[in-house]
Amino acid sequence: MIYLDAAATAPVRQDVLTAMWPLLSSDFGNPSSHHGMGETAARALSAARQGAATVLGCRPSELTFTSGGTEANNLALKGIALATPRDRHLVTSAIEHPAVLETLDYLRRFHGFRITVVPVSPTGLVNPDDLAEALTPGTALCSIMYANNEVGTVQPVRALADRCAAVSVPFHTDAVQAGGWLPLTVAELGVDALTLSGHKLGAPKGSGLLYVRGRTPVEPLIHGGGQERGRRSGTENVAGAVGLATALALAQGERGTAVPAATAQRDFLIRHVLDTVPGAVITGDSGQRLPNLASFCFPGTSGESVLLELERRGVVCSSGSACAAGSDEPSAVLLALGIDRETAQTAVRFSWTAATTERDIALAARSVTAAVVSVRGLGRTA
Ligand code: PLP
Repeated sequence: MIYLDAAATAPVRQDVLTAMWPLLSSDFGNPSSHHGMGETAARALSAARQGAATVLGCRPSELTFTSGGTEANNLALKGIALATPRDRHLVTSAIEHPAVLETLDYLRRFHGFRITVVPVSPTGLVNPDDLAEALTPGTALCSIMYANNEVGTVQPVRALADRCAAVSVPFHTDAVQAGGWLPLTVAELGVDALTLSGHKLGAPKGSGLLYVRGRTPVEPLIHGGGQERGRRSGTENVAGAVGLATALALAQGERGTAVPAATAQRDFLIRHVLDTVPGAVITGDSGQRLPNLASFCFPGTSGESVLLELERRGVVCSSGSACAAGSDEPSAVLLALGIDRETAQTAVRFSWTAATTERDIALAARSVTAAVVSVRGLGRTA
């Protein structure tokens, strides 16, 4: 089986499991306990926080471990907006993950916030000038993702953050898909808050991280024993935090070799598909694109049929974002790019890890051509 659905989730890396195992077995203590085992767990948690802080170039105290990307996004958006609501105005883009869009909708419905959604170009880019127009001095927060999970477009985060800084609006970025591949130094990105998720990096599901700059006030979502400096109560997932920090350091340390290799695989796959599948369309931006993701529309098919046909041939991928899977609605991201509903129903996404080989991609590329021909031959359209 060739697994090309890493944007949905990735396997836990062996080195990550090795780092986590002691915290789940011999050193299973509660970091709040006042005995040796508790102290061992507290030291492991502190080392994980320090390790992640080194990668992000921030202070350990600026990091909060969470249960994943969804919780980190919720904490960033609700936490910052509710702590300092200003004029109850929030700004985002049309192609954010539901973990951002639904959280903003909650703030609208229950806390009276007004949401401005900045449009994107047909390739999924936010224009910093459009963002600047949407901001007001009373905007409480702006959230724009680093890299899109469906089409892989990478935003000009620094330019967007600068526009926010110019009017003193805090800027959050959802870096869940970028975490394994793109630079994460928060000072260079210019962000005030940044979300990561462990299971996209080679750590387990249920681990996540939120960076919030310095003394930015954050209202906690989960109240209790005051762990994570009061920002996120509940006994810490020590092994998860260690796993996330280990995976993050490994992925970021390997970028120098992993990014060029994945980029070559991506460009091969795109070229092969566009050359051999009549009518195939690549979505997202050709220049600003994640190295490990390529998504296409195959007019005259349905994405679901192509996905099933590919699975029969041993290739696992996605027909859109996993969160929207099972719904017949075309992807909101693709519609926001201006793709018509019928074409959007034909979308298929391929995404992989640094462990994916050239051979895997070459085999998968041939299967894509055959699968689309087969689906079209059977007339299994949307
Ligand atoms: N943000 C983006 C861009 C994602 O792709 C995902 C997951 O697919 C999430 C947030 C949610 O992360 P988690 O699954 O860790 O809750």
